[in-house]
Amino acid sequence: MSNEKPYVSYFRPAIDAMLGYTPGEQPKGTDVLKLNTNESPYPPAPGVRKMLADFDYERLRLYPDPMATEVRSEIAALFGLTYENVIAGNGSDDILNIAIRCFCDAERPVAFLDPSYSLYPTLAGLQGAKCIRIPLDSTDFTMPENLLELAEPANLLIITRPNAPTGNSFPKSTMAKICENFNGVVLIDEAYADFASDNCADFVKKYPNVIVARTFSKSRSLAGLRFGYAIAHKTMIDGLMKMKDSYNVSMLTQRLALASLWDRAYFTDCVAKIKVAREMLLLGLLDIGFKVVESETNFLFASPPDGDAATYFKKLREKNVIVRYFPGPVTGKYVRISIGTEQQVSRLFLLTRQIYS
Ligand SMILES: *Cc1c(COP(=O)(O)O)cnc(C)c1O
Repeated sequence: MSNEKPYVSYFRPAIDAMLGYTPGEQPKGTDVLKLNTNESPYPPAPGVRKMLADFDYERLRLYPDPMATEVRSEIAALFGLTYENVIAGNGSDDILNIAIRCFCDAERPVAFLDPSYSLYPTLAGLQGAKCIRIPLDSTDFTMPENLLELAEPANLLIITRPNAPTGNSFPKSTMAKICENFNGVVLIDEAYADFASDNCADFVKKYPNVIVARTFSKSRSLAGLRFGYAIAHKTMIDGLMKMKDSYNVSMLTQRLALASLWDRAYFTDCVAKIKVAREMLLLGLLDIGFKVVESETNFLFASPPDGDAATYFKKLREKNVIVRYFPGPVTGKYVRISIGTEQQVSRLFLLTRQIYS
């Protein structure tokens, strides 16, 4: 086709200028120990399995409830709220995307912590919004004293609490001050809150500018399902609902999310087991001479004794263990290890001890 019209880019310049998001690796093989994307090592609740087995496939002919009212009501009850305080999403990534599109554009930057979840700058890029990166302390990953000053030009401030990939949390009293004084929306990304000692869910009753986002991907073993939600003041939810895809949560997802919520005891048990394995691995790694950030999540951010995390990552990889490595001057000294079962954690620990013996 020699006379073919040359391809010129039809994309908005903001899209051409950005790189797409790089998700964590999802390996095909079954003999790899996959500790790289903070999934749960446990299956979803038995009630989810039953709901799936009993689901009448013929119902898929129909559209789902566009408002996901039943599952929103069930979530609201967990927090003493009503369904009008809840928005459901296709994963909490959907919620983050909705928020950035609602509150940010070329004149309205988004502020977030650095290091933090690498999806935020991607979503900002798609929206043509500037990013304000708020650097965490490079040794203990605490927030800077002047956070509010740095975030001031932003219309949306995202605080990941506990943070990823570092695993640490921030004092709730500091969070309250930020929500009280920030002149815009504060979105608290609580993807890991179920593994933490406290959370900020009660803020939505006090602060009309606060959104708290959660996911079923980590603590509820449902990363493949894609379900997340946010709670906020009714007026805030009403606005966010305008931005969502009309049927953003599938019928099957709504049913299975409900089943997961109904199975309270199983959920609590899984979270407890992961916390035990987390403490076990923490002690083991400290014993070998690792530097480990105090974690309130289902992962550890750990730096090997020689600080050469790239080599540690590679050596684990050679032994079919996949953890997550984020290159960079600060994050490059660490790997992020998702907490598996006690058995999986032991396997990782034994390999690590071999590597550093
Ligand atoms: C995993 C994660 C999410 C996204 O979860 P999904 O519900 O799977 O989209 C959001 N924020 C942070 C910080 C995460 O680690």
